Amino acid sequence: SLRVGVLALQGDVREHLAVLTALGADARPVRRPEELAAVEGLVLPGGESSVIDKLARAFGLFDPIRAAIADGMPMYGTCAGLILLADRIDGAITGQQTFGGLDVRVQRNAFGSQTQSFETDLAVPALGDPPVHAVFIRAPAVVEWGPDAEPLASLPDGRVVAVEQGRLLGTAFHPESTGETRFHERFLVHVRERRGAGAPAF
Ligand code: GLN
Repeated sequence: SLRVGVLALQGDVREHLAVLTALGADARPVRRPEELAAVEGLVLPGGESSVIDKLARAFGLFDPIRAAIADGMPMYGTCAGLILLADRIDGAITGQQTFGGLDVRVQRNAFGSQTQSFETDLAVPALGDPPVHAVFIRAPAVVEWGPDAEPLASLPDGRVVAVEQGRLLGTAFHPESTGETRFHERFLVHVRERRGAGAPAF
């Protein structure tokens, strides 16, 4: 089976592990560089991006994750995880860094303080029917993207909330908490494709 990790420094790690396990993957938490080196793909969970950034540096994972992205390891970030995959962020706290990889600018807490959470049904043509029931929790939005970043879903106001670039996937919402499995399946397809392209399997 595909050996994938969930970055387990902070955030909704358990939910992602449960979805990936239900899809037949060998999913395990990643907290140390050795654990990162033993997986073929990595999920970056929702949580607080500035905290995950700080902890990644404290745990010696920041540079290894950047190197893994540069090496083509498939990754899927939800919410805070999308922020961590963005090359540029608006509303970062002082000193906040990202792993990067997605040529996008993400606005943190894009939906303001009054409507911090909302749900909506989103058309995602790349996933087909039915639409995705998307839950946004103090969510970011993609407000600019470069030519290699492909928007997969947008809100009626034009802001992008799901994006893909090569084998990097990000959503501003949380499929892991609603029983939606198609984004995780897509991530696992990326992992399988990369294995097929000659990456080391375990
Ligand atoms: N607002 C959080 C951040 O900036 C993201 C929220 C979430 O992951 N649910 O990291």
